[in-house]
Amino acid sequence: MKQLPKTYEPREVEDRTYDRWIKGNYFHATIDPEKKPYTIVIPPPNITGQLHMGHALDETIQDILIRWRRMQGYSALWLPGTDHASIATEAKIVAKMAEEGVTKEDIGRDGFLERAWDWKKTYGGRIVEQLKKLGSSCDWERERFTLDEGCSKAVNEVFNRLYEKGLIYRGERIINWCPHCCTSISDAEVEYSEKDGSFWHLRYPLSDGSGYVELATTRPETMLGDTAVAVHPDDPRYQALIGKTVILPLVGREIPIVADTYVEQDFGTGVVKITPAHDPNDFEVGLRHNLPVINVMDETGVINEQGGQYAGMDRYEARKLIVKHLEEQGFLVKVEPMKHNVGECYRCHTVIEPRVSLQWFVKMEPLAKPAIEAVRSGKTKFVPERFDKIFYNWMENIKDWCISRQLWWGHRIPAWYCQDCGETVVSRQTPHTCPKCGSEHLDQDPDTLDTWFSSALWPFSTLGWPDQTPELKYFYPTDTLVTGYDIIFFWVARMIFSGVEQMGETPFSTVFIHGLVRDAQGRKMSKSLGNGIDPLEIVEQYGADALRFTLVTGNSPGNDMRFMQEKVEASRNFANKLWNASRFILMNLDEDQPAPYLPEELSLEEKWIVSQFNRLTKEVTDNLEKFELGIAVQKLYDFIWDVLCDWYIELAKLRLQNGGQQAENARAVLTWVMTKTLALLHPFMPFITEEIWTTLPHEGESLMISPWPAYDPALDFAAEEQEMERVMAVIRAVRNRRAEMNVPPSKKSGIYVETSFADTFTACAPFIAKLAGGKAVMVNETFEEANAVSVVTPDAKVFIPMGDLVDFAAERKRLQKELDTANKNLSSVQAKLNNESFVSKAPAHVVENQRQAEAKLKETIAMLEESIQKLPQ
Ligand SMILES: [Zn+2]
Ligand SMILES: [Zn+2]
Repeated sequence: MKQLPKTYEPREVEDRTYDRWIKGNYFHATIDPEKKPYTIVIPPPNITGQLHMGHALDETIQDILIRWRRMQGYSALWLPGTDHASIATEAKIVAKMAEEGVTKEDIGRDGFLERAWDWKKTYGGRIVEQLKKLGSSCDWERERFTLDEGCSKAVNEVFNRLYEKGLIYRGERIINWCPHCCTSISDAEVEYSEKDGSFWHLRYPLSDGSGYVELATTRPETMLGDTAVAVHPDDPRYQALIGKTVILPLVGREIPIVADTYVEQDFGTGVVKITPAHDPNDFEVGLRHNLPVINVMDETGVINEQGGQYAGMDRYEARKLIVKHLEEQGFLVKVEPMKHNVGECYRCHTVIEPRVSLQWFVKMEPLAKPAIEAVRSGKTKFVPERFDKIFYNWMENIKDWCISRQLWWGHRIPAWYCQDCGETVVSRQTPHTCPKCGSEHLDQDPDTLDTWFSSALWPFSTLGWPDQTPELKYFYPTDTLVTGYDIIFFWVARMIFSGVEQMGETPFSTVFIHGLVRDAQGRKMSKSLGNGIDPLEIVEQYGADALRFTLVTGNSPGNDMRFMQEKVEASRNFANKLWNASRFILMNLDEDQPAPYLPEELSLEEKWIVSQFNRLTKEVTDNLEKFELGIAVQKLYDFIWDVLCDWYIELAKLRLQNGGQQAENARAVLTWVMTKTLALLHPFMPFITEEIWTTLPHEGESLMISPWPAYDPALDFAAEEQEMERVMAVIRAVRNRRAEMNVPPSKKSGIYVETSFADTFTACAPFIAKLAGGKAVMVNETFEEANAVSVVTPDAKVFIPMGDLVDFAAERKRLQKELDTANKNLSSVQAKLNNESFVSKAPAHVVENQRQAEAKLKETIAMLEESIQKLPQ
């Protein structure tokens, strides 16, 4: 019989095992009409990414689900891939070029894209290699990239279809602009936080000289672009002013006072300045009142020529000077400190500047409606359910999606503009002539699409869409999407409406939301705090299985978890426990031990372990169905550690010693239970389970493609379980009592069991003797035992002769020694307390402490004396 090495060395086992799986082609999901498909598409990590704990959790959960379903007999596809991450990647490349003193403009679009693809070739595969270290059983033959040919074809097709349906349009809108990244960013990419700011109260004089209006702003520099002030139409204070004009301070422009219901009467003075070019609400007011849009800033946040004397100044520099000038000229009434929400770019944390520009948009309302309906009708459900609120809330209040980005790395917008007649041509292929005037001067839009435009199509673009491939037919809709709650609206919602619109079906039936992995103190892991833990270092130190096990232990859907090194150590210890138990089994097997089977005749303890295992099978399967991975893993842990290792293996040792048929049966049951337990544990700890399983007698090539254990009603031995539990209760009770009395394990005692289940206890007497330190076990209906310790369980009363537990002479010696020490201590305390100068000079609490010590010692002495007296002579 092959044996396992003395200690488990994950580093030695993991890479070798992963290679074996790859060589066996076990990760590849085939289109098999005999099987049901089960599909997960990976949330594609950014090619700029480095594996962090969040990924590790995300990937572990997906791998557990996919391995479990694969063992259940599904054609289980876990489709991997990466995201081109336009803004993140472009920023990295631009930064690298800056070190060489090169700009994008220096090398032009083609030169830049060449560099970007080179970068992707060099670094884009890094995160994929890291995923493999976790044991991820992705179908690598189907690996995709959001910017590969197929995905690009899908993007082009969707853009054209939406455009043809009138759901994509180009228009001037106010968008979120990052003056650092120099691109528009979507609403979801703006991070809001409360910041200290000021409220500047300004006064704008009426043109007719009859007074002024007072208003307040948090961004005084934008006044350069004011084109109106507004009041509420019902505000009684300002009825006379509506229609009049004011003179814009510093600028001198005459602007109207308009009435608009957007103004809140009871906020501030009830008068607001309107800057259509620099505020989204003002932009809407401007549209209603036909106000001019005066943009006073360039794309880097610097005041432009529209800003007069402030042109060329950074927005914050300009703010200071404008406030100074307003104050000098008497337009500043007061400055009030206030807290307000400031939006920042999620990538570079520069404060967002709302900006009017010509962009491409997706009209969201017609797309959101059927998507909301699909979720309401249960076609896609969120686990835990409460997260559907985030989805509904976002989708019901959705604004049109700005999809154009002023970047080069990404899917270029398939729109061309005629240089002669101005016609816009949106086309699947590059057009050569203008359909309107026949001109050949067509320029393609320089912008690219928001990264999320392509990842929104991920569940079907990766399966071959727009072509009607067999893969698409078989694997779509996918089953489970696993992701963190932080990207529900970035990504999940967009996949849902894209799937509904393009495929007529939601892309997945379940969205399984998990929480964040926080540090031991509950803080978010972040670069700036430097509290991130590198999952690869953990894998290196403890093994991938220990990391995976730690990440799911205690994990419940939607809730954050804390990552602690001690937990990883506990997981590693668990792996070692399993390893050692398996080694013990292997050492006891026959040279020609057959593949796992259950003997016809099972003993009581064998029925007990088989029945326990059978129920575990059912429960773990049910937990996985309900995505309760943390509960499933806890049950496995308890079963393996307590039931299997601490109890059953100990019980089986007796049978193994007895030899003959008993030993043969014990070997069979040990092998059967262990190999099946390894199967249940496999999705959680794939490497160690595969290694042990392969060494044990087994059928088939690999544990990962072995069948998932099924619950079998014929293996349900409830009565025998109950009987065994009776005996175990006695063993536990005796052990506890011995522990309380500090009885060394070597000291054996007589055990007298008084019970009405005499048959059971008689049959199990050897177990009680072995596991409860008994030298002789007597079972009867009643006992007369004087001078015995008794312990009681629901089904038995157990007596242990006192003399068997305690060596009275030694105990007397021990107690006497303690008594002597206590007496000595008491004398020294009393000496202090009898010393006048100590009592009068020492601080009161010190004296009090001594008095308390005296009382305590007197009590101890009395107790010790009593114990000595009680000992038999
Ligand atoms: Zn930015
Ligand atoms: Zn034309």
